[in-house]
Amino acid sequence: MLTNEKKKQYDLEYAKKNLKRIPLDVQKEKYEQIKEAAQRVGTGVNTYIKESIDLRMATSLDLEGGRWFAKTFSKDVETLINYVDAHGYLFKDMLFADGSFTCDYISVDYVGNDGNIHEDNEYYLPECFANFSYDCFDFYVTENLNDYMGTFDPIKQSITINTEYLGVEHVILHEMIHLHEYVLERAGSQYREIYFYCLYKELEPQISDLDKRIEEYAHVSNTDEIMKIGGFHSILFLMKSFDLDLKMGYELGTVMGYDYK
Ligand SMILES: [Zn+2]
Repeated sequence: MLTNEKKKQYDLEYAKKNLKRIPLDVQKEKYEQIKEAAQRVGTGVNTYIKESIDLRMATSLDLEGGRWFAKTFSKDVETLINYVDAHGYLFKDMLFADGSFTCDYISVDYVGNDGNIHEDNEYYLPECFANFSYDCFDFYVTENLNDYMGTFDPIKQSITINTEYLGVEHVILHEMIHLHEYVLERAGSQYREIYFYCLYKELEPQISDLDKRIEEYAHVSNTDEIMKIGGFHSILFLMKSFDLDLKMGYELGTVMGYDYK
């Protein structure tokens, strides 16, 4: 316990060392709007502004490759990156890549100079798919991940795996779905919808009780429960996890985790 005077001094020193003030001018009317919006969700103006910035950063940061340039990685991180790189082919459908089951929805025919009809699979390909590379993201392996096996951070655009689970493939694949769903969302909701539809069509003949599984999973009491422990896992996420289970020869629910039965 510090005396009041000591505490004040400590706070001042802490602020000097760790905080950066951002002067922000807004119209008085705008301020009232922000204040009202913050009150409606039961928070202060300061927190409301910071959370809005986080939200914006999570949804609008550009994907920039070359993050690994001139970086040296620990052996563990190298192992992780090699695994991710080697299994990227499992996610080509989420990038609408040539030859994947989503590709038909963006390809267009055109008449070339030779008078023949050609197919263009890149004309409608959004930049975040066309330029996609795993070096737009950071990868970490750490012993200190609280109770998590792995995490994806959309703001830092990074995957972190708990050292203990580095050798557990389905844990890494789970986080890779988060990463690719994030990229899919950046492309726009039309791409997400097309993908959702294509993935459903792909899985439906392979999983006889797919509808039942989706219905059980989709109930808010279930998704809310998972949300509390591990963040949002959409129906699209569930379906992609099934797709990976099938491709990897796992029991359904392995990649999903969270005690999926
Ligand atoms: Zn997750």
